[in-house]
Amino acid sequence: MNRTWRFHCTQCSRCCRFEEGFVFLTPGDLKGLSRRLVREEAEVIEKFCRWVPMGGAVQLSLREKNNRDCIFWTDGGCSVYEARPVQCRTYPFWRHIVDEEGGWEREAATCPGIGVGEAWGERKVQALLRARMRSLPVMRKSPTGEGR
Ligand code: SF4
Ligand code: SF4
Repeated sequence: MNRTWRFHCTQCSRCCRFEEGFVFLTPGDLKGLSRRLVREEAEVIEKFCRWVPMGGAVQLSLREKNNRDCIFWTDGGCSVYEARPVQCRTYPFWRHIVDEEGGWEREAATCPGIGVGEAWGERKVQALLRARMRSLPVMRKSPTGEGR
């Protein structure tokens, strides 16, 4: 039986603000941000990103401001919306939220867009899940396991 999920982003901003978290970037995300910001990729990394130790590697993630808002949260919205990373574009249709027993309901406690609005069918949701699965983050080896 095909499942459907109800979701409509209320733009409450909770998933972009107030909490520490990781927004990992794929090579495509980095390229898109470089184009959007009209800056070299190295400069995007330097100004807007940080390296996060994950096992024996470090992965590229967006920085946060001192108040723990995403670095790109500005004036009530995402300042790079059209070029936002795939991790942002596919939320809340992430594997553990969609597939785990009770995952969707648990996530609804932090995202008021879950359970309301338009119906998302199986095909559309599976396409988002596949997009996320393919989106390996930019990473580099870290012999010490340390980021910067
Ligand atoms: S928490 Fe949910 S409703 Fe709020 S901005 Fe994020 S996706 Fe939209
Ligand atoms: S890049 Fe944009 S959509 Fe993604 S967390 Fe930052 S402000 Fe939110």
